Amino acid sequence: VGRPPDWENVIIASGHYRNGIMLAPITAQIVADLVTRGTTDVAGAEEIAPSRLSDG
Ligand SMILES: Cc1cc2nc3c(=O)[nH]c(=O)nc-3n(C[C@H](O)[C@H](O)[C@H](O)COP(=O)(O)OP(=O)(O)OC[C@H]3O[C@@H](n4cnc5c(N)ncnc54)[C@H](O)[C@@H]3O)c2cc1C
Repeated sequence: VGRPPDWENVIIASGHYRNGIMLAPITAQIVADLVTRGTTDVAGAEEIAPSRLSDG
């Protein structure tokens, strides 16, 4: 969940497997934060961001 590196106009909200309904509220909070503020204070958001794959 989050912006893929080098794609400033894209926010991914996927990869929830079989828990996407349960995780919709927290996912929406992260996406709304990224859209309105460009960052989020949601705990653990960095650990599920697409950048974790490129940042190592
Ligand atoms: C069998 C099964 C059981 C599940 N059980 C649970 C559960 O118990 N609890 C839970 O929390 N989660 C569960 N999930 C997961 C949950 O259903 C999904 O994570 C959630 O529905 C994802 O929501 P979404 O809105 O991101 O995507 P989706 O619900 O997949 O919605 C995407 C929508 O976009 C539409 N679409 C696609 N391409 C286009 C296009 N080009 N143009 C226009 N529209 C398009 C699709 O038709 C669809 O309506 C289950 C999933 C499955 C498959």
